[in-house]
Amino acid sequence: MTPSQQPWLIVGQGLAGSCLAWEFFHRSIPFEIVDNGSGGSSRVAAGMVNPITGKNFQPSWRIKEFHPQAVSFYTDLELKLDASFWHPLPVLRLASSEKEWKKIEGKFDKLEVIPWLQSSNIPTPPGFAGAVELKGGGRLDTFAFMEATRRFFTNYGIHRISHHDTSQPHTNRILCEGALGLLNDQLGSHRCAKGEILTVRANWPETHIRIGAGGWLVPIGDGLFRIGSTYEWDQLDESSTDAGRERIIEIAEKLGGRDFKITDHVAGIRPILRRSEPLIGKNTAGDWIFNALGSKGSLYAPGMARMLADWIEKDIRPEEDFIFTPTR
Ligand SMILES: Cc1cc2nc3c(=O)[nH]c(=O)nc-3n(C[C@H](O)[C@H](O)[C@H](O)COP(=O)(O)OP(=O)(O)OC[C@H]3O[C@@H](n4cnc5c(N)ncnc54)[C@H](O)[C@@H]3O)c2cc1C
Repeated sequence: MTPSQQPWLIVGQGLAGSCLAWEFFHRSIPFEIVDNGSGGSSRVAAGMVNPITGKNFQPSWRIKEFHPQAVSFYTDLELKLDASFWHPLPVLRLASSEKEWKKIEGKFDKLEVIPWLQSSNIPTPPGFAGAVELKGGGRLDTFAFMEATRRFFTNYGIHRISHHDTSQPHTNRILCEGALGLLNDQLGSHRCAKGEILTVRANWPETHIRIGAGGWLVPIGDGLFRIGSTYEWDQLDESSTDAGRERIIEIAEKLGGRDFKITDHVAGIRPILRRSEPLIGKNTAGDWIFNALGSKGSLYAPGMARMLADWIEKDIRPEEDFIFTPTR
């Protein structure tokens, strides 16, 4: 930073803005963070990290780099803040049909899959064709992480709750606005997707994250489980719907059972741009941007924040895969 430069302004305190703020703080880079306090998808997210995802039972994009960075970032911060937000949990991946199970089993000897396999010798719950236990999973309590972050920087006098008008020029700001920064296509055509989640109370003995039946179930303690999710591309708002609720009830019945009570129902918008992968770079106005964390913000935010801080502080340009380039 040149002596005349004002502190950096981080706009948005979701997972992206929070992780970047910690990177700057640890490097003694002067900054302020501003968030409009209205929410964002990080407040809604289940915070789940599942190393092998999707119908194709495929390791998450570049997980070998991002997973260790994320785990050490959250656990180091827990110690610093005397708080608890990273909860490691084994994952139980369930196959609904013989065909799906054959596909999953067929990946067990793949080099990129082996490090995440815990056991294929685990009882298959009723209603499923197969089950495999994975390691490396977990849940970030995103709400607790962001609250601890907000409190810390508020006490430091560098966190404000306020809307920042991005149409006004600013010399050095970083836009970490999540879906709000993508929805009117100011960074190019977005592919944001709305998702809904139920929290339920049940007497299920499950201590794994369960993935299957087109959804997931995450135990969060005290007899509570978060269950999701839906994908909706047309109605991009943060309202929970009856249709979303019915869809997640179906998933809950398959993954947990029929005996539960819904205690909460929320909706949010996943910030997705072009590919379903996070991006850093500059927009046409010259502002830095950190966005497009998609449906895996907990996994990618710490590593991307580190890369962006290296770029800004030391001019270390990341690989092209990570760089946002304006399309218009
Ligand atoms: C239903 C659902 C389930 C999900 N489940 C998971 C999961 O299990 N695991 C996982 O890793 N990810 C999950 N995600 C994805 C995760 O939520 C996102 O990847 C991540 O939260 C995005 O973080 P962000 O900081 O980019 O955006 P946000 O969390 O949206 O944060 C942006 C912040 O910036 C503020 N802001 C924007 N513009 C301005 C402005 N001009 N001035 C001031 N403030 C501003 C917003 O209000 C907001 O607080 C889920 C998402 C949804 C919707």
